[in-house]
Amino acid sequence: MRKIRKGDRVKVISGNDRGKYGKVMVVYPEKERIIVENVHMITKHQRATQNLREPGIIKREGTIHISDVLVVCPECGTPTRVGFTEVDGDKVRQCKQCGETFR
Ligand SMILES: [Zn+2]
Repeated sequence: MRKIRKGDRVKVISGNDRGKYGKVMVVYPEKERIIVENVHMITKHQRATQNLREPGIIKREGTIHISDVLVVCPECGTPTRVGFTEVDGDKVRQCKQCGETFR
Protein backbone atom coordinates (compact mmCIF):
# COMPACT_ATOMS: atom_id res chain seq x y z
CA MET A 1 0.00 0.00 0.00
CA ARG A 2 1.46 3.29 -1.07
CA LYS A 3 0.70 6.84 -0.15
CA ILE A 4 0.81 7.98 -3.73
CA ARG A 5 -0.67 6.19 -6.68
CA LYS A 6 -0.80 6.71 -10.38
CA GLY A 7 -3.69 8.97 -11.29
CA ASP A 8 -3.66 10.89 -8.00
CA ARG A 9 -3.96 14.63 -8.11
CA VAL A 10 -1.14 16.17 -6.13
CA LYS A 11 0.11 19.58 -5.08
CA VAL A 12 3.84 20.29 -5.27
CA ILE A 13 5.15 21.72 -2.01
CA SER A 14 8.84 22.23 -2.70
CA GLY A 15 11.23 23.08 -5.50
CA ASN A 16 10.73 25.40 -8.46
CA ASP A 17 7.26 24.07 -9.15
CA ARG A 18 6.01 24.68 -5.64
CA GLY A 19 2.29 25.42 -5.65
CA LYS A 20 1.58 23.62 -8.91
CA TYR A 21 -1.06 20.93 -9.17
CA GLY A 22 -0.80 17.94 -11.42
CA LYS A 23 -1.69 14.35 -12.04
CA VAL A 24 0.69 11.53 -11.10
CA MET A 25 1.66 9.77 -14.29
CA VAL A 26 4.30 7.31 -13.09
CA VAL A 27 5.31 5.98 -9.68
CA TYR A 28 8.72 4.46 -8.99
CA PRO A 29 8.08 2.84 -5.61
CA GLU A 30 11.58 1.52 -5.04
CA LYS A 31 13.04 5.00 -5.51
CA GLU A 32 10.12 6.78 -3.84
CA ARG A 33 9.96 9.06 -6.84
CA ILE A 34 7.12 10.05 -9.13
CA ILE A 35 6.48 11.84 -12.39
CA VAL A 36 3.77 14.49 -12.28
CA GLU A 37 2.22 15.91 -15.42
CA ASN A 38 3.82 19.25 -16.38
CA VAL A 39 5.90 19.40 -13.21
CA HIS A 40 9.69 19.56 -13.10
CA MET A 41 10.12 19.83 -16.85
CA ILE A 42 13.66 19.05 -17.90
CA THR A 43 15.38 19.53 -21.20
CA LYS A 44 17.05 16.57 -22.75
CA HIS A 45 19.41 16.55 -25.63
CA GLN A 46 18.31 13.64 -27.69
CA ARG A 47 20.63 11.92 -30.06
CA ALA A 48 19.37 10.26 -33.16
CA THR A 49 18.83 6.56 -32.67
CA GLN A 50 17.30 3.81 -34.71
CA ASN A 51 13.93 4.59 -33.20
CA LEU A 52 14.28 8.34 -33.29
CA ARG A 53 15.68 9.73 -36.48
CA GLU A 54 15.62 13.42 -35.60
CA PRO A 55 18.13 14.51 -33.02
CA GLY A 56 17.29 17.58 -31.00
CA ILE A 57 16.11 18.95 -27.72
CA ILE A 58 13.09 17.47 -26.05
CA LYS A 59 11.29 18.57 -22.92
CA ARG A 60 9.82 16.08 -20.58
CA GLU A 61 8.93 15.61 -16.97
CA GLY A 62 11.67 14.63 -14.55
CA THR A 63 11.05 12.64 -11.43
CA ILE A 64 10.44 14.29 -8.09
CA HIS A 65 10.53 12.77 -4.63
CA ILE A 66 7.22 11.72 -3.13
CA SER A 67 7.91 13.98 -0.15
CA ASP A 68 7.76 16.98 -2.51
CA VAL A 69 4.03 16.58 -2.99
CA LEU A 70 0.82 16.30 -1.05
CA VAL A 71 -2.08 14.22 -2.31
CA VAL A 72 -5.20 16.26 -3.01
CA CYS A 73 -7.97 14.54 -1.12
CA PRO A 74 -10.70 13.44 -3.55
CA GLU A 75 -13.30 13.97 -0.83
CA CYS A 76 -12.52 17.45 0.52
CA GLY A 77 -10.17 18.76 -2.18
CA THR A 78 -7.48 19.72 0.33
CA PRO A 79 -3.81 18.88 -0.19
CA THR A 80 -3.03 16.55 2.66
CA ARG A 81 -0.69 14.05 4.18
CA VAL A 82 -2.15 10.60 3.91
CA GLY A 83 -2.60 8.01 6.60
CA PHE A 84 -3.76 4.44 6.39
CA THR A 85 -6.66 2.72 7.98
CA GLU A 86 -8.72 -0.41 7.52
CA VAL A 87 -12.25 -0.54 6.17
CA ASP A 88 -13.91 -3.95 6.11
CA GLY A 89 -10.50 -5.60 6.25
CA ASP A 90 -9.11 -3.58 3.37
CA LYS A 91 -6.27 -1.19 3.90
CA VAL A 92 -7.26 2.19 2.51
CA ARG A 93 -5.82 5.67 2.54
CA GLN A 94 -7.20 8.29 4.85
CA CYS A 95 -7.19 12.06 4.49
CA LYS A 96 -5.62 13.69 7.54
CA GLN A 97 -7.71 16.79 6.96
CA CYS A 98 -11.26 15.51 6.73
CA GLY A 99 -10.80 11.91 7.87
CA GLU A 100 -12.46 10.45 4.78
CA THR A 101 -11.02 7.27 3.33
CA PHE A 102 -10.18 6.58 -0.29
CA ARG A 103 -8.23 4.02 -2.30
ZN1 LIG B 1 -10.13 15.13 2.84
